[in-house]
Amino acid sequence: MERLQKVIAQAGITSRRKAEDYITDGRVKVNGKTVKELGSKVGINDQVEVDGIPLTKEEPVYYLLYKPKQVISAVADDKNRKVVTDFFPEVKARIFPVGRLDYDTSGLLLLTNDGEFANKMMHPKSNVKKTYIAKVTGKPSAEKLQLLRHGIELDGVKTAPAKVNVKSSNKKGNSSIIEIVIHEGRNHQIRRMFEKIGHPVEKLKREQYAMLDLLGMNPGETRPLKPKEVKQLK
Ligand code: URA
Repeated sequence: MERLQKVIAQAGITSRRKAEDYITDGRVKVNGKTVKELGSKVGINDQVEVDGIPLTKEEPVYYLLYKPKQVISAVADDKNRKVVTDFFPEVKARIFPVGRLDYDTSGLLLLTNDGEFANKMMHPKSNVKKTYIAKVTGKPSAEKLQLLRHGIELDGVKTAPAKVNVKSSNKKGNSSIIEIVIHEGRNHQIRRMFEKIGHPVEKLKREQYAMLDLLGMNPGETRPLKPKEVKQLK
């Protein structure tokens, strides 16, 4: 038996916290009867409905995608552009991306149908380490790199300390390759951080997410996570 809010969250409907609101708001039925108590537990044979729609309990699945650029981190796009779920034609589960990479960012993206897992990964408290390789315009000075390391204000809130490492600059100094490691996941964070120090990002790739990397993979390739990897992330 599992708690009702956990079952709803695991079906990918919403977070566990919001599932509690759904329950207390009377939006959830178990075997045809509205249940408003948060302590309720359900078993595999119980039929759970949210807003009159039955939860089909899918086995949780977890995948890694090497997202190419010019792909939307979503399950559908109203302009018919390529979306990340297009790379999983064989997967019948209703998977969705764990967070987002920008349209023009390539790199490591997780997809799952486990809403609770996704929420946990994206929560700032989880502190998931993300490593990016950015090609930026020009050659940032040591002072500017220090600004990135110490934190820089975006929308009035300072970014957490980042690890920054210059890999190379071209001879003329008109572009540089920089590795940057962050734990937050603010909107367009890397692009905005470099923009702020006057060295806009020309190309961006996420090379690592927690302990996962893209070694041996090409853009557009996918693989299921190994059970031990899922365990480690959780
Ligand atoms: N930071 C960005 O600016 N873009 C991404 O896609 C990821 C991190």
